[in-house]
Amino acid sequence: MTGDGLPDEDLEWVRSGSDYFARRLAELTEEDVAGDSLLPGWTRGAVIAHVGYNAVALRRLCHWARTGEETPMYTSEEARDAEIARGAALPLGELRQLCTDSRDALDDDWRSLPAEAWEAEVRTRQGRRLRARETVWMRAREVWIHGVDLATGGSYRDFPPAVVDRLTADVLEGWAARGEAVDMVLHPTDRDGPTSIGSPGPTVSGSAADLARWLTGRGGGGLESSTGELPALPRWL
Ligand code: ZN
Repeated sequence: MTGDGLPDEDLEWVRSGSDYFARRLAELTEEDVAGDSLLPGWTRGAVIAHVGYNAVALRRLCHWARTGEETPMYTSEEARDAEIARGAALPLGELRQLCTDSRDALDDDWRSLPAEAWEAEVRTRQGRRLRARETVWMRAREVWIHGVDLATGGSYRDFPPAVVDRLTADVLEGWAARGEAVDMVLHPTDRDGPTSIGSPGPTVSGSAADLARWLTGRGGGGLESSTGELPALPRWL
């Protein structure tokens, strides 16, 4: 963070993650859009529309932070789902435009947000209270992970190590905050030492990227468990 109040590091993760998502998107053909993403029940088109509308929704939180006027991300869960379903059926060119336009507009909003507004309290769609500055990392998470979800061969191993570690920390903090009982030892083989979670339990080892993918609900490929079986995980968000 610099003196002007901008959460610079997180903004950089959004910028590089948005580029990552855009590169994955550029690999798709019109026919690919209706195909399955890596998110169960979601087409690629639905993931693309969701990423575009998520930026629009975060702009509402910017407005809230700047003006104090309560403008939630979505008017209702039904409205959000309907918007994604409609968006999923758009031609690829329009989906790309939606992503580019909403990305640029959100970036402009952030760049012009006054320092005090970054500290203003807003709420996520799950109702969690947070400061406006925390919504930047929320967006970074979206663009990196959904870039992989587009199923064009992307992987958590493409992510900067700092993003991988932050995702893992997010999941563990979320579980702690919700009082989830998870007992295991996480052993990222490409990091310093294992981390114990809860009471003694199986040791799960693999690359930090593969562990982060598993912790965020996207499959445990490449991991090994000391009991031969990966423990069941609570949801991560
Ligand atoms: Zn999402």
